[in-house]
Amino acid sequence: MAATATLTDPSLPALAALTGYALAVLLPAAVVWLLGYAIACALAPFGKCRRCQGEGKHAARLSLTARRTWCRRCDATGLRLRVGRRIWNHLRH
Ligand SMILES: [Zn+2]
Repeated sequence: MAATATLTDPSLPALAALTGYALAVLLPAAVVWLLGYAIACALAPFGKCRRCQGEGKHAARLSLTARRTWCRRCDATGLRLRVGRRIWNHLRH
């Protein structure tokens, strides 16, 4: 009986401490990341289009020749509005 009590008892505060430590580290990290992302969205609301790598056009998939077509995802601008900025715009309206 005494053995089980000594085995289980120290594990609970240790787990609580671990959870508290994880929260103490992860929460500020998440806040810092969010702040940094918000600033990045405010300074540079546009990111590179991932489909055409910011070129505005990409290789046609069904073409035998290596012809390049306009990127329809970004309307050939090569720029995409960041997700954070889109959320910000959505919240403002
Ligand atoms: Zn594009």
